[in-house]
Amino acid sequence: MKQINEYCGIFGIYNGRDAAHKIYFGLHALQHRGQESCGIVTSTFDENRQKQVMPVHKGRGLVLDVFKDPDLFVSKLLGTKGIGHNRYSTSGASDNQSNFQPFVVAYRNGNLAIAHNGNISNARELRKAFSERGTIFQSTSDTELILHLIAQSRRRKQIDQIMDALTQLEGAFSLVMLTDDALIAVRDPNGFRPLALGRFENTSSTGEPSYCVASETCAFDMIGATYVRDVEAGEVLIIDDQGCRSGDFNSFHLPRNFGVSQCVFEYVYFSRPDSQIFGAMVDKVRRKIGKQLAHDAPVPSTRKHDRKPIVISVPDSSNTAALGYVSECRKLGQDCKYEIGLIRNHYVGRTFIAPGQNSREQKVRSKFNTVSGVLKDRLVVIVDDSIVRGTTAQALVRMVRAAGAREVHFRVASPMVISPCFYGMDFPDPKELVANRFDQDPQKIGAWLGVDSLEYLSHEGLLAAVRASSSTDGFCSACFSGIYPVPVELGVTKDENDW
Ligand code: SF4
Repeated sequence: MKQINEYCGIFGIYNGRDAAHKIYFGLHALQHRGQESCGIVTSTFDENRQKQVMPVHKGRGLVLDVFKDPDLFVSKLLGTKGIGHNRYSTSGASDNQSNFQPFVVAYRNGNLAIAHNGNISNARELRKAFSERGTIFQSTSDTELILHLIAQSRRRKQIDQIMDALTQLEGAFSLVMLTDDALIAVRDPNGFRPLALGRFENTSSTGEPSYCVASETCAFDMIGATYVRDVEAGEVLIIDDQGCRSGDFNSFHLPRNFGVSQCVFEYVYFSRPDSQIFGAMVDKVRRKIGKQLAHDAPVPSTRKHDRKPIVISVPDSSNTAALGYVSECRKLGQDCKYEIGLIRNHYVGRTFIAPGQNSREQKVRSKFNTVSGVLKDRLVVIVDDSIVRGTTAQALVRMVRAAGAREVHFRVASPMVISPCFYGMDFPDPKELVANRFDQDPQKIGAWLGVDSLEYLSHEGLLAAVRASSSTDGFCSACFSGIYPVPVELGVTKDENDW
């Protein structure tokens, strides 16, 4: 699956020496969640101005490029706490520099910075109300609305202002906020997006505990932090000099009106397999998904004297599911062999960055190549995590056939994508989804792809695999089912949400 845009990666740190450096490494580990722009803001005391300040550095591109000047870490981004953001826009024009996060403002209660992963579904109404009051915006991002809600709250204490703002939001939002005193981590009441709390050894003289929060735990590994727990759905977690305020007594919770609905697509594709999200390692869930696929759509049978079928994954996101698929197929008595038949060029940007369809197809070809010695004369089963528009899958099938495969079968480790996401994923228009273009008929889709057979994981199979692996429950699978866990305004597109 290569045509759903990811959203963002967020990272925050409290009480860490060289905080900006740690955020840099954390963002680097989260680079897969957004490559358009990135930024870091820290909080430090400015001796000259005798006040607390929040220096920020943001730019277009990858973390390694935006932060290539080492001086940034010794002369500008000072302090022991800060937040960072990798961006792929789901709201707000992507080329508008004023949309790069984190956002930083100074208002009557001090400095405040915010980084957001998700999509505020009532952004249009909020924006309209602010505009009618004459509020001037600096960006077209829905994240700025949160800052205005906080700044315009009538409450006096900052945490009350923040709670006041958060209770007016609908949709998907995992947030890290930085105040002059605290790091605040928030997960929306449905828990659409992951957010985890970590802890690391404090090397400062104070000896106070040091904490970090990240979209995925792979960012903790990068800085030697250990996973503590997930930020709960609806939890507002405050980390300051009193420690990490968690648990029923001290933490703040947002009301849950619709139950928990964690994004199942995080397991299918978005998150890294070395991360733990929603109570399970992504690797474990993906293997289980692959095993379930073997039950729903096994390798085709072959004639007695044929060589055994080979199963290849579309690297890298399908590797783990393909491994699970092969081991279960074998267990079920369908002999097959896992092979590396597609090689990915890691130095090409993610497919979806290419503007326009032609360019995307071209990028597929420059991103993947075939290993003809592996594929020639073989019955090949391609396992991919999902199919969205289908252009990547179609190009790959052509390439595998051109490499000499005798038969090409396609197995998809998720159900058909039939509906858009309103909770932070940038899906194509429903009319562009290959499932909808061909009446949700696998045979018609398969004919268009040019495969000998096409089969998908069932919706029940996906949920069974996820539930069997995760210690949490409550998942959103609306893009596969069309059943939305939180009411949405159908027909409103991403572009209409931009301004
Ligand atoms: S609609 Fe799909 S991508 Fe969006 S939150 Fe639900 S499962 Fe995730």
